[in-house]
Amino acid sequence: MVFEAGHSLRSKLSALPKVELHRHLEGSLRLETLVEIARTHHLDLPSYDLETLRPLVQVVGGDSPDFSTYLEKFKLLRRFYATPELIARMVHECIADAAADNIKYLELRFNPVALSKFRGFELEQAMLWVTEAAEQAQRDHHVTVRLIVQIGRDESVFTARRIAEAAVAARHRGVVGLDLAGDETAYPATPFIEVFRWAKEQGLHITIHAGEVGPSANIRQAVEHMGAERIGHGVRAGEDPKLVQWLAEQGVTLEMCPTSNLHTGAVAGPSEHPLRRYLERGVRVTINTDDPGISSTTLTDEYLLAVQHMGMDLPAIQQTILYAAAAAFLPKDERGALVTWFEQVFAPL
Ligand SMILES: [Zn+2]
Repeated sequence: MVFEAGHSLRSKLSALPKVELHRHLEGSLRLETLVEIARTHHLDLPSYDLETLRPLVQVVGGDSPDFSTYLEKFKLLRRFYATPELIARMVHECIADAAADNIKYLELRFNPVALSKFRGFELEQAMLWVTEAAEQAQRDHHVTVRLIVQIGRDESVFTARRIAEAAVAARHRGVVGLDLAGDETAYPATPFIEVFRWAKEQGLHITIHAGEVGPSANIRQAVEHMGAERIGHGVRAGEDPKLVQWLAEQGVTLEMCPTSNLHTGAVAGPSEHPLRRYLERGVRVTINTDDPGISSTTLTDEYLLAVQHMGMDLPAIQQTILYAAAAAFLPKDERGALVTWFEQVFAPL
């Protein structure tokens, strides 16, 4: 009976049309594709066997839940971005997987330095390959895709500015936002404030990874000083009750990623995840996958986790989807149309 109930709940959540605002291309690669690339391109790896490769690029039981273990997986993945064709294939597969999970609107983010540096490509080239592939893939899979360009916190300000300039130049190719990601505890955001202010003036939307493993003060800094309209994760906002209230009043959207938050140790256990608590306090929370390849998850899995272990129910999940649509980095009329479409779909439910 328990299985039956779980099974029908999964079917319901799977069938829901969805919005995803926070998914990293580099964290979305299919394991089977990685094995194929490793073999075809003779990559220098300990093994070409799927199960031997898995713990190197995916979180597995026995991994300690901490941020550095999580980031290690990305480092090895850089070896796989071997040709423009492979990067395009990864974009296609990532968008196909999102569409198969009934995602209707996806904002996919990528780090152009990660995609280019290992093989000596220019970051502007990598950006072009991603935008072209995303343009084609969204047509093939009937899903609307917009792109967010990511700056790593460990980059120099010089490189950050170069990335921001390339992102602004790619606005006509589907790039809508700029993001800052990486280890908050080792690299403060302060050196990048001017870069983000400039990008915002040029018309890009801003989202910042903050309050994930770093303190809640990073969230306030991102909103007040860097122009962030959305916050990646923001799980630690609750350390400052006034901040939670303020986020609700300001209408800041949190891009929360439950499984990722467990894998990075940002949250100790599912029942301690603040998703429901923040929603009840009026914060515009959304549910996302972060890195479906690395965490071996789908957006349906994340909804299921939220319902089964985080006190959410179907109306609450729908509310988070509406919040996500309302926070899409789209022109006002397109955003309004997206919200209306979801409201109409959810009304009979
Ligand atoms: Zn992220």
